[in-house]
Amino acid sequence: MPAVPDITLNNGVTIPQLGFGTFQIPPEETRETTLAALETGYRHIDTAEMYGNEKEVGQAVRESGIDRADVFVTSKLNNDAHRHDDALRAFDRTMDELGLEYLDLFLIHWPLPGSTSGDFVETWKALEEIYRSGRAKAIGVSNFQPNHLRRLLESSTVVPAVNQIEVHPYLTQDAVRAFGAEHDIATEAWSPIAQGKVLSDPAITRIAERLGRSAAQVVLRWHLQRGDIVFPKSVTLKRIQENFALFDFELTEGDIGEISALNRDERTGPDPDTFNG
Ligand code: NDP
Repeated sequence: MPAVPDITLNNGVTIPQLGFGTFQIPPEETRETTLAALETGYRHIDTAEMYGNEKEVGQAVRESGIDRADVFVTSKLNNDAHRHDDALRAFDRTMDELGLEYLDLFLIHWPLPGSTSGDFVETWKALEEIYRSGRAKAIGVSNFQPNHLRRLLESSTVVPAVNQIEVHPYLTQDAVRAFGAEHDIATEAWSPIAQGKVLSDPAITRIAERLGRSAAQVVLRWHLQRGDIVFPKSVTLKRIQENFALFDFELTEGDIGEISALNRDERTGPDPDTFNG
């Protein structure tokens, strides 16, 4: 199986373009499922305090026998920790749960633009301190719109390494991705298969049939060829393996255009401009 390509972030840190998502994996299943992903070959795991499974993700990484330097681990700051000191404490909590010496990437999970308890610019200053301490090798944001990013860039020194946003064929996010590309902020696509909602789209199943691949593989390949970082989630071993087998086929430019044309600006999750936790 050809290797997963690395993407180089704006501070020189490299991240495997394909990882494994752990949202909605119950804690009691997380250790075993994450170990199955690592055994399959995934070397990038995405978790968050909000998912309630950091402890089990950390256990899997430690018990896998894989060198720590060879696994990329991301976690995210909870929405109740947007004040400076709360953010520092939340990071400590995450590290205690994971039981790791350092984190590869730490993100502000949501901007919460109308929140009265903390502001993402203040939160970011705490993340910059964590970054300078070396305990997180890179820092970034999640669910930031261009207006949030503009405000952050005006008042900070470290440019976020990534922006993790909802992206799939029904929500192609052209404006946010273009803003990221312009400012050297890599786009990470969450819910890359829209939690399954795009898999029965006739345009996608037609391409899948032609290539002898599954609809999920076609959609994940679309993300990769557009240059985004993805981490599909599954608790099903067959799907964990299927979602990793993406490097021995290619979509044509025509396929990519056809899938991108399915956009209907349809979110599966909250709107970051109005969501306040
Ligand atoms: P995904 O788009 O990855 O879809 C997961 C769902 O699709 C599950 O129900 C899974 O079922 C099913 N599935 C997975 N693979 C296949 C396949 N090959 N064929 C058919 N069905 C399949 O959704 P997520 O919301 O989990 O997004 C991925 C990751 O993104 C998350 O796990 C999390 O790490 C991150 N995320 C970040 C957010 C943020 O705000 N920053 C928000 C949401 C997600 P089953 O498990 O039963 O096999």
